[in-house]
Amino acid sequence: MNVLADHSLQQLNTLGFSSVAQYFIQIDSEADLLEAVAFAKAENLKIHVLSGGSNILIAPRIEGVVLFINIRGIELHNDALVTVNAGENWHDFVGWSIDQGLSGIESMALIPGKVGAAPVQNIGAYGTELCDVAVCVRAFDLQHERFVRFDNLACEFAYRDSLFKRTPGRYVITQVTLQLARESISVCRYKALSDALAQQGELSPSPKQVFETVIALRQQKLPDPAVLGNAGSFFKNPVVSQAHYETLHKQYPKIVAFPSGNGMKLAAGWLIDQAGWKGYQEGCVGVHQQQALVLTHTGGGEIDMLLQLAERIRESISKTYGVSLEIEPQRFPL
Ligand SMILES: Cc1cc2nc3c(=O)[nH]c(=O)nc-3n(C[C@H](O)[C@H](O)[C@H](O)COP(=O)(O)OP(=O)(O)OC[C@H]3O[C@@H](n4cnc5c(N)ncnc54)[C@H](O)[C@@H]3O)c2cc1C
Repeated sequence: MNVLADHSLQQLNTLGFSSVAQYFIQIDSEADLLEAVAFAKAENLKIHVLSGGSNILIAPRIEGVVLFINIRGIELHNDALVTVNAGENWHDFVGWSIDQGLSGIESMALIPGKVGAAPVQNIGAYGTELCDVAVCVRAFDLQHERFVRFDNLACEFAYRDSLFKRTPGRYVITQVTLQLARESISVCRYKALSDALAQQGELSPSPKQVFETVIALRQQKLPDPAVLGNAGSFFKNPVVSQAHYETLHKQYPKIVAFPSGNGMKLAAGWLIDQAGWKGYQEGCVGVHQQQALVLTHTGGGEIDMLLQLAERIRESISKTYGVSLEIEPQRFPL
């Protein structure tokens, strides 16, 4: 185990804010994890789990020990049941599943980050979520110091949410098992995706066609964090009551919304765009030119600048539409 002191995390968060960890340990196996936990306990240090750093708002200094999860390996058990270790890159894993002729996660291509973080916020895109294919999750319980297995129900998955997100700091996910399929189970519920496939004349597309189309769509509309610092969607799509939606719809007939449970899920990007924020720039932080849901950092700034901008956007949306926006990326540390 290699313990690094005062280690920079600037390259390890996609917003690119500078940050220094008191201690940093790369975890390549479950054995490494146990050793690192013992070190933290002996030194009385708090543990923070970091993967791809694509969904976090990182603090300038992190006291305690940052465990950087890098446990690699994929195992195909039978025809389409797959166990994948937490440190695998999510998009590379999706590509692997396509190469194996498997279906189920192709519409989640190009989501940044690693497999172990995928259950935390129940990642999703173009109508598919991790919970649609997750069978179980293996995690180390830092409270009781033992490995535990959660089946799909026990993960308490919800929209961009799970048990793991609601109990921060308790579990370190080491493996995820997914039930994929040999036949195509792509559900192209999303209009942008089904339109793009229809344009190519694909009415029953193969998983590979869906995979490639999703990559093309995402590359068109989302900034690449390697080029421009960002954390993807900065706000969750808010859900409002049917009555609230109808009032808004009268005033804004073009409002973008989808039924969700008993209410309506509003497109947060549309609200922010219509409130005039798209393309707004304030020094080195701003709102992306093409995608109002994405806040950006061009470098050299501090996380507080971005948080202040986010707060002003939240206030403006609350005042204009009476809707409360919730920030999607998590504070690191919380
Ligand atoms: C350009 C862009 C586009 C995006 N598009 C999408 C999208 O379409 N859909 C979507 O759902 N998300 C999207 N995201 C958000 C992000 O990619 C996902 O949330 C992803 O799962 C985060 O993975 P990560 O490895 O980067 O996690 P990190 O950012 O490193 O961590 C996120 C949180 O999970 C915790 N965590 C990480 N690994 C573990 C582990 N092994 N065990 C326990 N806790 C852990 C961390 O402590 C932290 O609280 C996007 C982000 C970007 C930058």
